[in-house]
Amino acid sequence: MSETIFQKIIDKELPADILYEDDISLVFRDINPVAPTHLLIIPKKKISMISNAEEEDQKLLGHLLLVAGKVARKLGVQDAFRLVVNNGSGAQQTVFHLHIHLIAEREFSWPPG
Ligand code: AMP
Repeated sequence: MSETIFQKIIDKELPADILYEDDISLVFRDINPVAPTHLLIIPKKKISMISNAEEEDQKLLGHLLLVAGKVARKLGVQDAFRLVVNNGSGAQQTVFHLHIHLIAEREFSWPPG
């Protein structure tokens, strides 16, 4: 499978506005934001989509959620943000490297679109 854009960001071959990084994860601003705050939280491990995650990824997946909370607190948006994972092209996934969208500082409605 060819390398994704996010792999190039992980490898620092492509620039990104990185807000947080550790051994397991990377957080950067979405290049085409749908809200004043729109971040992408990704694992460094290659997992194409959540439906391809495995039992051994349990800790990693929990880590991504903790990082989401940590970054939200850092940006002061901890009281109102939404996390979104698009899984599969039918659900509008366009980059096949697992990512969690963190969206904040906009009006939210329910059900989501
Ligand atoms: P999805 O549609 O859930 O696969 O989300 C992919 C997201 O990646 C979209 O919101 C894009 O705007 C974003 N994106 C694509 N290329 C880049 C890039 N080079 N840097 C930051 N975000 C990107």
